[in-house]
Amino acid sequence: MKGKVIIAVEFVIIVVLLIVLSTQFVSFKTIRPVVREPAAISESEVSYTPPPPPRIDLETVKKARALRAEFSPKIDKITDEIYLARGFSLGNSIMVITEEGLVIIDTTGNAQVAEKILSEFRKITDKPIRYIIYTHGHPDHIYGAPVFMAEGVQVIATRAAVEFMKRQDQWLGAYHLRSRTIQAGRAAPEFATKTVFSSPFPPWQNKQMIWPTITFEDEYVFELGGKRFELYHAMGETPGHLMVWMPGERALFPGDLYYASFPNLSTPMLESRPVKEWYESLDRMVALNPDYVIPGHTRALSGREEAVDVLSHHSQAIRYVYDETLKAINAGKTLDEAAHTITLPERLAKRWHLQELYGRVDWSVRGIYRKETGWYDGHGTGLNPLPPGHRAREMVQLAGGADKILIRAIALQKAGEHQLVCELTDMVITANPNDRTARIIKANSLEYLGYQSGNLNMFGFYRSAASLERQAADIKP
Ligand SMILES: [Zn+2]
Repeated sequence: MKGKVIIAVEFVIIVVLLIVLSTQFVSFKTIRPVVREPAAISESEVSYTPPPPPRIDLETVKKARALRAEFSPKIDKITDEIYLARGFSLGNSIMVITEEGLVIIDTTGNAQVAEKILSEFRKITDKPIRYIIYTHGHPDHIYGAPVFMAEGVQVIATRAAVEFMKRQDQWLGAYHLRSRTIQAGRAAPEFATKTVFSSPFPPWQNKQMIWPTITFEDEYVFELGGKRFELYHAMGETPGHLMVWMPGERALFPGDLYYASFPNLSTPMLESRPVKEWYESLDRMVALNPDYVIPGHTRALSGREEAVDVLSHHSQAIRYVYDETLKAINAGKTLDEAAHTITLPERLAKRWHLQELYGRVDWSVRGIYRKETGWYDGHGTGLNPLPPGHRAREMVQLAGGADKILIRAIALQKAGEHQLVCELTDMVITANPNDRTARIIKANSLEYLGYQSGNLNMFGFYRSAASLERQAADIKP
C-alpha cells in the first residue's frame, strides 16, 4: 500500500516536471489563424453592350443532326423476338418475346414516354409482361416502370442498384434532382435563351418508383418460355449495373455500359464511377462473342464482328484514360495538368463510336483523379483555405476595383476568350454577389461556350449556368 502511494506521488511529480519543461517550447493556447476580412467592394459602373447571340458552327449543326436522328422515335426489330424502342426519350426500352410472356429490359424515364412505347409493343404482341429488368438505377431507365407493371410482374435489379436508387431518391434526392436539372440545361428555364436544340433529357418530376421484387448479388438466371436469361452484376456506369445475356440468341443487353459515344466515365456533378470495373465489364462482354448488342442508349450493334470490334475499342479507350490518369497521379501532375494533357490516341479518337458527344476525356480524367486521390494537393495553401469572398475581395482591390476587371473581361469576350471571361467575372461576383453587370457579362460568355461545346452534357451545363446567372441578376434574355 505504502509502495503504491510512493509510486503515485513520483508519477505526479514526473508529470508536473514534464509540463513545466514542455511549456518552455509549447504553447497551450489554441492558436487561431489570422483571418482579416477585406473591405466590401463597390458595385461596378462599366457600361456593357452584350455581344450578338452565338452562332452555331457547321460542325455542331452536323453533330446535332446526327443526334436528332438517334433521338427520333423508332422501334428496331433486332430479331423476331427482340425489339428495341429508341429515341422516344433519353433511355431505350427493350422487349423480348417468349412463348410464356414478355421480358422488358429498362423502362425509359417517365410514364408518358413508356405509354407510347408500350402501345407500339402492343402492335407486335399482346402477350402478358412477366418480368421487368432494370439494367441500373438511373432515372432514364426506371421511371417508366409503372406503365409496364401488372399483377405478378417481377422486377429484377442488383442489390447494389437498390442502394443506388435509395441514394438517388432519398438520401441525396434533392441534390440529384438539382444536378440532373442543371445537366439537362433546364435550370431557371424562364431565364434561358431560345435554342435550336431540343433537350432529349426529360424533366424528372412526378416520378413513381417501382422497387425491385427480385434482387441479387453476383448473378441471377431464369428461364421463360424456353428462353434462358443470364443476369450478371457488371459494374461500370453505376456500381449496381447488370448485363443480360441470352445464350440461345447470343444477344447481349449491356445497359449503359455501352452506347455510341465516348462514355461518361465521370458525370461532373455526381459521384465518381467505377472506371476500372467498367472496362473489365466490357472485356467480359467481348469474351461472350455476342451476335447482337442492344444497349440502353443509341442503336444496337449487330453482327459478331461489329459487336466485338466496338466493345473492345470501348474497353481500350476507357482503359487508356484510366491508366494515363493513374500515371499522371503517380508522376505528381496536378488534376488540371492531367485533364489538359491526356487525350485519346488517334486510332481511338477517330472512331465514330468514340466521339465525345456525351462523355468527355478531360472530364473523365478529372473524375478518376478525384476518385483515386484526396481533396488536398500537398502544397499547404489548400489545407485551410480562406472563405472565397475574402480572397476575391482582396484580388479585386488589388486589381484597382471591379470596373478594371470587367473592362478587361469585356475586351476578352470580344476576342472570344470566354473561359477567361468567366474566371475574371467570377472574381467580381464572388467579391460582390450583387454585381449584376458581372453576372450578365458572364452569362453571355457561358452562352458562347455552350454553343461551341459539341457535347450534349456540356451544352446543358452551360445553358443552365447562363440561366442561373441571369436569374441572380434578375434580367431575362
Ligand atoms: Zn442511361
